[in-house]
Amino acid sequence: MEIEPAEEVKEPPRIHRLDESVVNRIAAGEVIQRPVSAVKELVENSLDASSTSISVLVKDGGLKLIQVSDDGHGIRYEDLPILCERHTTSKLSKYEDLQSIKSMGFRGEALASMTYVGHVTVTTITRGQLHGYRVSYRDGVMENEPKACAAVKGTQIVIENLFYNMIARRKTLQNSADDYTKIVDLLSRFAIHHIDVSFSCRKHGAARADVHSVATPSRLNAIRSVYGLLVAQNLIKIEASDNDPSSSVFEMDGFISNSNYVAKKTTMVLFINDRLVECTALKRALEVVYVATLPKASKPFIYMSITLPPEHVDVNVHPTKREVSLLNQEVIVEKMQSVVESVLRNSNESRTFQEQVIVVLSVM
Ligand code: ADP
Ligand code: MG
Repeated sequence: MEIEPAEEVKEPPRIHRLDESVVNRIAAGEVIQRPVSAVKELVENSLDASSTSISVLVKDGGLKLIQVSDDGHGIRYEDLPILCERHTTSKLSKYEDLQSIKSMGFRGEALASMTYVGHVTVTTITRGQLHGYRVSYRDGVMENEPKACAAVKGTQIVIENLFYNMIARRKTLQNSADDYTKIVDLLSRFAIHHIDVSFSCRKHGAARADVHSVATPSRLNAIRSVYGLLVAQNLIKIEASDNDPSSSVFEMDGFISNSNYVAKKTTMVLFINDRLVECTALKRALEVVYVATLPKASKPFIYMSITLPPEHVDVNVHPTKREVSLLNQEVIVEKMQSVVESVLRNSNESRTFQEQVIVVLSVM
């Protein structure tokens, strides 16, 4: 009988600590997944800084350059050394603050992340100062002492060579469709919600801006200037609220497209407590209503702003803060469905009625 050779015993591999720079780069790549995520973080910072004007300039889909300039409150000179360290923020100090957070940032991770995957330069001036400061960052720290420089009100942040040290990410992004369209889409969404702020978004070298909104008291005006007349003239105003703590507490207002609006795909612009988010369940539910009520206009344009008690929203579920989880989500989705359905039915009936009137008149 042959003796089987003894099975080679494998030694368990040694476990070791990753270099901090590797850990930080991996984490950064999760927060900043693509150029448009960097733009979102920067614009949200500008909004948090009470800016009234925000302009974005993009080169090479954001891989070469992203520049966001605002006229907000600026950053103190003393804070510049820790500005881009991980978990440094002016917006949160205790865990409990998360429950009532009104600002869009809170993790203090965005700027830090950008310095681990790109080259960041900040120029900023605070009120009452005669000059501003400019400083560049790498891997969370200042590359040099801040230099005094001329500056207009607010802050300008420039990210160059995004993902220069993440070869695979850079390659997939270069091959995939340009992020510039995503950036334009993002700015369009911000522009129709924050109507007291003017936004612009321009490709480097282009004479015209692709998003150009001016502050206006009318949401419909903002929608017209960003999405065009064809969208704006086919919208119906929508409002709803509930104040029954046993089912749901919310306020909603928005605009939804009518039966004349025909598009290839749905546009759903959703803000929950002023935060731009996605909610696939709500989007699908509303599409279902359109298919059933207005089959020919079944790809709607929807802008909705929902306000909920802050303690009903968990903003902390996703590193990019794109998805939030809501208390009573199903109840809320159902309520929105029934509001949209009744508004669409009413508008459909009044339209047929109007058409009938016109027919009668023309016969006479
Ligand atoms: P977070 O927004 O979560 O606090 P960030 O890394 O995005 O974290 O920003 C860190 C801090 O830098 C902010 O808390 C804010 O104080 C300051 N900051 C960033 N961008 C701006 C800006 N455009 N204007 C003024 N302050 C800013
Ligand atoms: Mg932020």
